[in-house]
Amino acid sequence: MKKWNMIIDVAKCHDCNNCFLACKDEFVDNDWPPYSLAQPWHGHRWMDIMRKERGQYPKVDVAYRPTPCMHCDTAPCIKAAKDGAVYKRDDGIVIIDPKKAQGQKDLIDSCPYGAIWWNAENAVPQKCTFCVHLLEEGWDKPRCAHSCPTGALEMVCLEDREMEKMREERGLEILMPGLKTNPRVYYLNLYRYERCFIAGNVALRDKDECAEGAKVVLRRGNKILNTVETNNYGDFKLDNLEENSGKYGLHITYPGREGKELSVEVKESTNIGTIFL
Ligand code: SF4
Ligand code: SF4
Repeated sequence: MKKWNMIIDVAKCHDCNNCFLACKDEFVDNDWPPYSLAQPWHGHRWMDIMRKERGQYPKVDVAYRPTPCMHCDTAPCIKAAKDGAVYKRDDGIVIIDPKKAQGQKDLIDSCPYGAIWWNAENAVPQKCTFCVHLLEEGWDKPRCAHSCPTGALEMVCLEDREMEKMREERGLEILMPGLKTNPRVYYLNLYRYERCFIAGNVALRDKDECAEGAKVVLRRGNKILNTVETNNYGDFKLDNLEENSGKYGLHITYPGREGKELSVEVKESTNIGTIFL
């Protein structure tokens, strides 16, 4: 049986919030029985855009992580719900039954991703439905994915084994894998949000010039982890490192100059400044 999955590319999200607004347009003031009551005008973010700034001036970047319900295959919300108020459909979509879930405010705390919101007026917990009412009409994607101008939100309907293959081939990641919730929302370029970098620049002191094309090698012990070259401003960036992952060695070389060896302790994204050769 083919099931729905979403693939979100963090590198393509520019925080325009078109997806968030499309979700509002679809659900505010609109009941979609039997799947959802109308979303309130304020307070809910069924498609939530999380924001993260990394580094120190001037080596700073910002990443945006769109975060809907993960439609987990092993969903804590289903386990926590009384009277089968949350259920998984055969196509993989997790639905909160708006009638059965009346009054079950505790469901908000059952979701480790913060994807469930409380509708106080109707006393019902609510979340993203992958626009199941539209998929049933033949749409190939929910409104959020339809409205994204950069293609950051991709919807695929595949057999589980096909999805597993795609996951391996494209290097897709999931949020909080340690929880073993088996999300159906996958991420590309998640390192932009979850991991950190070492950045800096290389200059030639006697010439008062940026060192374009300097080679920067990242090592752990004797193992080479990454090699980059400085750009025309002498800048380099070594990304995709775990936060608080300890000491790394940097070896910097430039033709005709004596190389330099540095040790950098990585806690978070770090600008190590200018290295003169
Ligand atoms: S993300 Fe949260 S609300 Fe969605 S299925 Fe998983 S546990 Fe349930
Ligand atoms: S519409 Fe696309 S680019 Fe805009 S915030 Fe949503 S996911 Fe990001």
